[in-house]
Amino acid sequence: MNKIYFITGSQDLYGEETLRQAASDSKEMAAFLSGKLCGIAEVCFEPVVTTSAEAEKVCVEASADSDCIGVIMWMHTFSPAKMWIRALKALKKPMLHLHTQYNEKLPYDSIDMDFMNLNQSAHGDREFGFICTRLGVKREVVAGYYKHEDVIARIRSFAQAAAAVNFGRTMKVAMLGNNMRDVAVTDGDRVESEIRYGWNVNYYGIGDVVSIIEKLTDDEINAKLAEYSEKYTMATDDAAAVREQAKYEAALEKFIKQENISAFTDTFQDLHGLKQLPGIAAQNLMAKGIGFGPEGDYKTAALGAVLFKMAEGREGATGFMEDYTYDLTSGSELELAAHMLEVSPVFAASKPEIQVHPLGIGGKEPPARLVFDGISGEGIAVSMIDMGNRFRLVCADITLVKQPQPMPKLPVARLMWKLKPDFATGAAAWIYAGGAHHAVVSTALTKDDIRLFAKMTDTELVIIDDKTDLNTFEQQLEMIDVLAGLKK
Ligand code: MN
Repeated sequence: MNKIYFITGSQDLYGEETLRQAASDSKEMAAFLSGKLCGIAEVCFEPVVTTSAEAEKVCVEASADSDCIGVIMWMHTFSPAKMWIRALKALKKPMLHLHTQYNEKLPYDSIDMDFMNLNQSAHGDREFGFICTRLGVKREVVAGYYKHEDVIARIRSFAQAAAAVNFGRTMKVAMLGNNMRDVAVTDGDRVESEIRYGWNVNYYGIGDVVSIIEKLTDDEINAKLAEYSEKYTMATDDAAAVREQAKYEAALEKFIKQENISAFTDTFQDLHGLKQLPGIAAQNLMAKGIGFGPEGDYKTAALGAVLFKMAEGREGATGFMEDYTYDLTSGSELELAAHMLEVSPVFAASKPEIQVHPLGIGGKEPPARLVFDGISGEGIAVSMIDMGNRFRLVCADITLVKQPQPMPKLPVARLMWKLKPDFATGAAAWIYAGGAHHAVVSTALTKDDIRLFAKMTDTELVIIDDKTDLNTFEQQLEMIDVLAGLKK
């Protein structure tokens, strides 16, 4: 079970009674927040910190505890911040600095100096904030009463982002084949990915999956076909093509389990031993929370798996998408996003159809795929690119819309969306930022979730939303380029 340490700061000048009260208040608050974070993490009360030795001890413990995904800090009383220096230098887990109080309202009738001594986070949290800033400690500051819904929501977002970062720390990603030949943006520094995020990305020959396919039993293939006919509408007579995909998925599932894989890539340029490009096979796996990137795009595959994790338990859909083509009608521009085959059925507005059509490239047999129209609603598109000396996340707010007219001849699943603040600005900003043609799209997550992930992993982030102004945006890109050159 994931744990978040709830660490309360104080000092040893107040005497037994105040410290006892601080401990009892903190215990109650940790238990309350634990109830609110149910399913994400347990919030564990830690003894109130009064000395630098105690502060260091609890931060070292949190850093060494593999179940601990982050810490919540708050200063119930004043807590002289030099006592936090060693502790903060030792802390290796994401920190939420909760600027709150045990009491919501001031007790105007009874307030006295004892009350002031016990309840002075307005004072103590500023002292603590200073030393964090001085030390350059990345943290999320959440201010407000801890029982208020907006504060709880922000703590939950922090916990989900921390859980996703923690999940990524030991995640394995398989590249079945390499990066698509000559493509730039899908490539990347796999060593740096592991250093920064923990993502262990390795190459496998597609033959490793083919040899599993060859050993599948009829029962295993039939079970997969039964799963398809339960979930999807069969809209093809080509049962053999669908059976072929069922074999791929059954084999990929075994491979994923055997290698403990959370995300994978394939490429149409390396399908030796397969008759089709994986279509339904990849689509159905994505819907189960497996990250996927086509054309060897390991960054999108890994980011997808991490964002699935972050979105766990939330309403909405998350999956890989590709920018494809536009409707450029003036004033109502729309983007049509799709892929050759691999769009996750979590985006389906209605029950997907299984169809079989030829594929223009790759020289393989016509693959079976799921075809559907996409959902509508507010969402984000997130792309990770490798800038050479660092990774950059580009996150754009988008509005998914119902496709205005049927597209009866389009043989792939698709989503349509509007860019923000408008087409000309949103599209130009994405291109200036170097955002890829591959992205993870989510209606479950917001740019705030991506901001948290970026902060916790010290990743550069640029946001495109309804406030984006191109002049400012270009200047921001120039500035971060310069700053990135100054930073290791
Ligand atoms: Mn692609």
